[in-house]
Amino acid sequence: MEYRELGKTGLKAGVIGLGCEHLDGKPYEQVKETVSAALEYGVNIFDVFMPGSEVRQNIAKALGPRRGEIMIQGHIGSTDVNRQYDISRELPVVQRYFEDLLRTFGGYIDFGMMFFIDSDDDYKNVFETGFAAYVERLKTQGDIRHIGFSSHNPETAAKVIDTGLPEMLMFSINPAFDMLPPGENILEHFDTGFSPRLFRGLDPKRAELYKLCEHKQIGITAMKAFGAGKLLSPEHTPFEKPLTAAQCIHYALSRPAVASVLPGCRTRAEAEGAMRYFDAGAAEKDYAEVIGSVRSDFRGSCVYCGHCLPCPAGIDVASVNKCLDIARLDPSNIPPSVRTRYLSGKNECTGCGSCESRCPFGVPVIKNMREAAKLFL
Ligand code: SF4
Ligand code: SF4
Repeated sequence: MEYRELGKTGLKAGVIGLGCEHLDGKPYEQVKETVSAALEYGVNIFDVFMPGSEVRQNIAKALGPRRGEIMIQGHIGSTDVNRQYDISRELPVVQRYFEDLLRTFGGYIDFGMMFFIDSDDDYKNVFETGFAAYVERLKTQGDIRHIGFSSHNPETAAKVIDTGLPEMLMFSINPAFDMLPPGENILEHFDTGFSPRLFRGLDPKRAELYKLCEHKQIGITAMKAFGAGKLLSPEHTPFEKPLTAAQCIHYALSRPAVASVLPGCRTRAEAEGAMRYFDAGAAEKDYAEVIGSVRSDFRGSCVYCGHCLPCPAGIDVASVNKCLDIARLDPSNIPPSVRTRYLSGKNECTGCGSCESRCPFGVPVIKNMREAAKLFL
């Protein structure tokens, strides 16, 4: 397992975690074998958004004394009042479900996630009621160690980050979601599928959100990296061919601020399948060809794919472009961590142009390298 810092929480999360959603309704033995497989691979972050007591208890029992080695993302406002997954902002209901979660996982939750803040109404119902104050109280009391939130909407997520309250974010990230035009509701595409006709290249609002997170040290954990399996399926993929799990994981991990991808595994075999990411070579993880096959109105923007390597000067072009994109947000206030990252890598571009001839997205790499040198040196 590789571990990355999760924004300003000061904690390190495995780059692959476990989304526990699909363990809901499964027998304890199956939960146990999936959790055991994750632990064997060094997974240290689990997402437990499910409101049902039984699945929560099964996970806690499967962890047993190893609970302390794992960081739990527990969601505040996730309920099943109507016998299915539901959102509540009514404090007595919210408290009842969250207190059950606290009891189940040893009296504390590592990341108290304000659940599903996607719309202006969600925002108001969290920040203009007693909800946010309740979450702050949980942190003061030590019931939660850090405040996070989950969202699928880049504009609302940016607004939440601007409040200064959250330290981390769980966000849905995959190439198809990132390429839907602004204004499309990604959740609708779970059922209807992704139409490639919609794609226009990476949505600038989503790209801005990732950069904002890196700038403000908001660590991201990624959900829906496989687009509910559709991106892996020859039948449902919106691209010319399906992506592999390794490509999807690599895509999410290549976005700025992303620390961890949380695939929803339901069996030991699925957990082992996700971990094959670590055996994949650079060519197997390269997603450039697949996402480069769709129409893009945003040519010239780096998608951090690494397809342009090798660079004879040893420059990690994707990494420098990522540092540059974050620095461009506010050149007079470049985060020290981003400057350090730039300075710790090779950055002396000779202008040979071999990267530009290999880049499928028309990125002006030489110009970018010069701009980066000006900003960072
Ligand atoms: S142009 Fe610069 S960044 Fe690109 S391959 Fe040549 S030396 Fe490397
Ligand atoms: S410059 Fe082009 S090939 Fe290189 S990482 Fe960026 S998008 Fe990929």
